[in-house]
Amino acid sequence: MTSTFFRLCIPLLVAMWLTPVFAADVVPIETVAVTSKLSMLSGRGGNVAVLNGDDGVIIVDAQYASQYEVIAQALAQMSAEPVKFLLNTHWHDDHSGGNERMQSTGAVIVAHENVRKRLSTDQFIEFFKAERPAAPTTAWPVVTFQKDVTFHLNGEEIHVFHVRNAHTDGDAVVHFKNANVVHTGYFFFHRRYPFIDSSSGGSITGMIAAVENILARIDGDTKIIPGHGALTDKRGLEAYLAMLTGAHNAIATMMVAGNNVEQIVAAQPTAAYDAVWGNSFLNPETFVRLIVDNITRATLE
Ligand SMILES: [Zn+2]
Repeated sequence: MTSTFFRLCIPLLVAMWLTPVFAADVVPIETVAVTSKLSMLSGRGGNVAVLNGDDGVIIVDAQYASQYEVIAQALAQMSAEPVKFLLNTHWHDDHSGGNERMQSTGAVIVAHENVRKRLSTDQFIEFFKAERPAAPTTAWPVVTFQKDVTFHLNGEEIHVFHVRNAHTDGDAVVHFKNANVVHTGYFFFHRRYPFIDSSSGGSITGMIAAVENILARIDGDTKIIPGHGALTDKRGLEAYLAMLTGAHNAIATMMVAGNNVEQIVAAQPTAAYDAVWGNSFLNPETFVRLIVDNITRATLE
């Protein structure tokens, strides 16, 4: 198995450990038209946004490396042109795995500077005890930013901005302002408890702040492409914020009162949210342990 294989992405990490994933496990791409020029592709890994037009194709995220062929086929049905720009919402391999192949076809990869930093060095995801060797140089972003960057293409103003320490320390949100569409990257995981990669600089409080930041920029007509899960809207993001703040407050309160992690898990502090959010990637117990670990780290810093 290659090092690329080991750079499996985070969202399906637990499932992958139970059921090893091989290149043959390519998942067909489902294309959803978000607007006349903008589409969402889902398959295996993070959702991909595609903006198409006379100025060329720009995409957000590229799923796993093994998904490249099916993504390329889906893109070919929309445009004969190769991808001009690929934006990475963060470094994890379910979003950046396609970088190398995309770059080889001429795509310019753009990301926050911490994405390049993490893709270019060996990483260790502590919560899952998972090693991630550095990606090949040909997979690294070649244009990086610190705060934000704006693209003016295809009649769109595409504002790409950094949100600090949310899912990782290199998260970017992509706001298609004219189309009124936002790609949130991973930190919004629709109707599933999210993973927060604290060893990559992620934090629950940063994630909450990031959601509040987006909510302040959008309206009731905004369409939201979450990092994972179905296309949603402002109400979906508000429900996510309510879950995050409710879970964070309940767990933090128990920690302040002196409960240890086993006592907190036993008390089921996320019970009110588990039916909607706890049936997929992270089960309620794992999510509670993740938040306890996250708050503990923040306290120690
Ligand atoms: Zn991720």
